[in-house]
Amino acid sequence: MALKLFDSLTRQTRELAPAAPDGVFRFYNCGPTVYAPAHIGNFRTFIVNDVLRRLLDLEFPGKVKHVRNLTDVDDRTIGQARAERRPLAEITRHWTALFHADCAALNLLVPHVEPTATGHIPEQVEMIDVLLQKGNAYRSADGSVYFKITSFPQYGALSRIRERELKVTNTAFDADHKDDVGDFALWKAYKPEEDGDVRWPGPGGAFEGRPGWHIECSAMIRRHLGETIDLHTGGVDLLFPHHENEIAQSECCTGTTFARHWYHSEHLLVDGTTMSKSKGNYYTLGDLVAKGYSPTAVRYALLSGHPRKQLNFTLDSLHAAESALKALRRFAQGLGPAGSAEPSALFDPVIRALEDDLNTPAALGALFSAVNAHAPGNAAADRAALDRALGVLGLDLTPPASGAPSAPAEVEDLARRRWEAKKARDFAAADHIRAEIAAAGWSMLDSKDGYRLEPAKKA
Ligand SMILES: [Zn+2]
Repeated sequence: MALKLFDSLTRQTRELAPAAPDGVFRFYNCGPTVYAPAHIGNFRTFIVNDVLRRLLDLEFPGKVKHVRNLTDVDDRTIGQARAERRPLAEITRHWTALFHADCAALNLLVPHVEPTATGHIPEQVEMIDVLLQKGNAYRSADGSVYFKITSFPQYGALSRIRERELKVTNTAFDADHKDDVGDFALWKAYKPEEDGDVRWPGPGGAFEGRPGWHIECSAMIRRHLGETIDLHTGGVDLLFPHHENEIAQSECCTGTTFARHWYHSEHLLVDGTTMSKSKGNYYTLGDLVAKGYSPTAVRYALLSGHPRKQLNFTLDSLHAAESALKALRRFAQGLGPAGSAEPSALFDPVIRALEDDLNTPAALGALFSAVNAHAPGNAAADRAALDRALGVLGLDLTPPASGAPSAPAEVEDLARRRWEAKKARDFAAADHIRAEIAAAGWSMLDSKDGYRLEPAKKA
């Protein structure tokens, strides 16, 4: 069966295939803005895209080029640098490192290219120059450059936003010197009081400033994937205006189709409502790991709903994920190692469910149907089939799946003794053992019904 996916532009489920004669499937996924930790809503999108990447690798082996960017200059990153009175690069380096650690813990494949906005300023300026020359952009009195949306009649096709709605949506941003409220910034003129030392030579070699947010993806796609790509994805929050603007800039610049297929994953709710720090339902991966949950369980829980529907995440859903993973581990151990066996057809329905518009809950359902219906036979072939299915879902059963280094046996032993002491309410002994653990360079983090060890933070 072929890989079919809903296309947000045509509103149809269509087959994915590479267009270029070289047979390479060109896949772009909008990456994070590195000014704070990514939350689990962000990771829902990245995990869904990771399953998509793994499925593409299976369909077009060795022929997938996956690019995901890092937004390391925009209003938010600059705002954070100003708030902390630290250089922009220091802020973005810090949050990029945490993002990468979280991605590794969640078993996300590394994209083939991970370009940064600051690493592609000339490419962005070059596109803006072309748009100015072609009359799709204009310079305002302060030296900023705006894209003129009336110059692109197809504007709004992706989000189906009408001109009137556009004016209503954008009134809040109408403080600049634009011709039309819908016009958006390609280049923002340097403002010393806001931008500090963040500035580059602008379009035409003049008017120092910085790129607008939207142009970075267009420029990095053009540089690393070419003028037309096969698939462009992101969270549904990026559909308007970000992706609409990417289409306008790119198609006006190159005169050809920008992305042949668009895919958007839906929002994550937590405890039935939108995530916010004030509601106490805002989680990063680190928050959940500190509560004793494994990143693999987080990944499993975030795949348990259809990616194109809102998913309600709860700590109960994480408990359920942990027990599902335990059952899978037991089943895998029962089968023994795969060796070099050819996979049996036992878990083919898992792959079929994913090929049918990335139906991850149906795939997880098919996984357990096969486990429950399993009859003893060729264990090695079934194990190979299980490993292949889990590989596409990116579920790594090897514990510990935290990605953290594991403690030496004597520290594990101390931790177990301390836990026993604590349960027996012998707090003096528990404190004494905690000190021994700390002396060995580890800290023990307790939760309600368990604990975990982490390398002690250096002062
Ligand atoms: Zn983007």
